[in-house]
Amino acid sequence: MSIFKTLLAMALLLLSCAAVSASIQVQAVSPHLHILTGKDYGTNIGLVETPSGLVLIDPMPGEQYLAALEKAIQAINRKPVTHVFNTHAHTDHTGGNAYFISRGAQLVTGEMRQFGLFHHAVKSHTTTDNIYYHKPSNAIFVGDVFDTSWHPTFYAGGVAGFNNAIDTVLRIGDEQSLVVPGHGVATDKASLRRFRKNTLEWVDTIRLLSMQGLSIEQIMTNKKVIDLVERFNLSGKSPFLPQKAYQRFIERTIQVIERERGSV
Ligand SMILES: [Zn+2]
Repeated sequence: MSIFKTLLAMALLLLSCAAVSASIQVQAVSPHLHILTGKDYGTNIGLVETPSGLVLIDPMPGEQYLAALEKAIQAINRKPVTHVFNTHAHTDHTGGNAYFISRGAQLVTGEMRQFGLFHHAVKSHTTTDNIYYHKPSNAIFVGDVFDTSWHPTFYAGGVAGFNNAIDTVLRIGDEQSLVVPGHGVATDKASLRRFRKNTLEWVDTIRLLSMQGLSIEQIMTNKKVIDLVERFNLSGKSPFLPQKAYQRFIERTIQVIERERGSV
């Protein structure tokens, strides 16, 4: 190969690496665990290395970034992807399953204790939220039970389901455990406790204001409600929520409150 061709090949390789790193962010948690994050949904994707192959949790970086995800995985470890796990059924978490299954991976719900992967099922964000604990890395993948880049979404389990889900996560591992939300930066149990406190305060406030007969529009402009929702803005976005999402969050919270009142 001529020097020119070698240089060109090197330049192309560098460019493709840059493209991968531009669309997929990689965080090394331990020698056996990485978190990869795609640009589209910002879903936290777990990459667990086992002696027999690679295990992925929620491998969905966005449809057009699946090949880039595969490249990013191969840059870490060239073993085949043998198993795929999902924290819940939403497409921003499951959308990449078919891609990896077509390349030989198997979809699994449950545990792989031999590789230190433990499973708990709760009901909060959806009717089945799977929590995966990778014990060798002391990292807990909690899916959308917890989010550090969005408001809480406890619509399937209501307040009781949400509380139970958070209690379940808090019982796993220890105080040093890394808590990996479905989206947003991975954090710790102290942050999860604050998230619970803020969520319960949010629900109580919306309950009170809606009992006082305030309309959705009035609730949206209430100072306390505005301050409360901003507490979930851990990534400092401005504005944090589009108006439509903000309105929907209030409406769905009221639905949860009415459903729980009806079931008492
Ligand atoms: Zn999600």
